[in-house]
Amino acid sequence: MGYQRDQQARGWKGLNSHVCANCVDDEYLARLVSENLTVNKCDYCANQSQQLIAACVEILMVPISNALLYYFTPRSEISDTDLSEWFGVATEEALNQLFPIGSHPALRTAVAEAFLETSWTKGRPGRLMELEPHVELQVAWDEFVERIKTQSRYFFLTPSSDEIYLSGFSPVEVLEKIGKWVTQLGLVRPLGQQELFRVRERSPDAAWGLTFKELGPPPNDIAVGGRMNPVGISYFYAATTRKTALAEIFRGPPASVAIGTFRPRSGLLVLDVSSLPSVPSPFDENSREQRDAILFLQEFAKTISRPVEKTGREHIDYVPSQIVSEYFAKVFSFKEVKVNSDIDLPREGVSTRSRRINGLIYRSAVRDDGENIVFFPPPWHEEFESVLSLVDAQVLQFPTWPSFLNEMCN
Ligand SMILES: [Zn+2]
Repeated sequence: MGYQRDQQARGWKGLNSHVCANCVDDEYLARLVSENLTVNKCDYCANQSQQLIAACVEILMVPISNALLYYFTPRSEISDTDLSEWFGVATEEALNQLFPIGSHPALRTAVAEAFLETSWTKGRPGRLMELEPHVELQVAWDEFVERIKTQSRYFFLTPSSDEIYLSGFSPVEVLEKIGKWVTQLGLVRPLGQQELFRVRERSPDAAWGLTFKELGPPPNDIAVGGRMNPVGISYFYAATTRKTALAEIFRGPPASVAIGTFRPRSGLLVLDVSSLPSVPSPFDENSREQRDAILFLQEFAKTISRPVEKTGREHIDYVPSQIVSEYFAKVFSFKEVKVNSDIDLPREGVSTRSRRINGLIYRSAVRDDGENIVFFPPPWHEEFESVLSLVDAQVLQFPTWPSFLNEMCN
């Protein structure tokens, strides 16, 4: 009787089988196995050793059960009146959605069969039919994009109080969440004084000189809208490699271009969404918020570097990334932690100061190995020359495809 009550309280039947870390693909669970080895044979892959190599599957049940209850709601928690909305999945199907592919299938089946609950629906406990938090924010982002493209371009930051958001997040809340997460994940970082490249088409008989003015961004009065900048506000686009810079602009031979090599001044801060941290395990309770943040930012980073078709309406497609850029350029402030080790101070002190960030690094849509960087306009009345300097400039001719490919493959 006592044993049965136990089972019900924890929600699963005891499991006596043993599993080795190789049969568990999820890094967090595999670590749990490695830390709790009790026998020298795995019941799943049948591996045997002189050493202890396998742990009782029971030790995996607590984190698995916690993850299931975080991402899914069991049938038993749903009142009969809510059942009309019920789209349940079996436990194994629910686990399939959580486990990384490649885990031993027999282990998954054994774990699934151990649960007393047999039907689950996606969503958090008590909030039937809701989505995982990162998906929820993705829906909010999609709604944000749709609204600023089709309803309100300029006053969305101060929406009227009767505005209803399907996702539950207003556009400004979406931006604030992105801002909070990029800080927490350490995506704002100092920019080193690495070389950056910028290419401009140049006909062979052009007379303009290879100067900062000509190879830098166009002046505001002729600036067209781009992926990150609105029409009339010039941003400085560059690439972290020469090949990426060329690939971004090259349409086909014959072509003649000028390429400028620039160096940023020291002390700049950038938001780097080009390489995000790996996604933590769904079973690690302490990293859940981080997991949701990374999953969302992965989608977001993909959206802002996706190739945009030039149909004449591409400026509409650029509006969301332009708004995000302006948010990071003008609204977001990064709290930089400074350790004061001044000799006059009795002991080391820590202070914070808020700083604006200077630009954004994102993956190139045309080359997998390169990143693009965009610098936001410098403070009022300053020029981009206060942010970067031109260190080298060259003219390159590509009369044929092989001449271009030679350059790209070297
Ligand atoms: Zn095994």
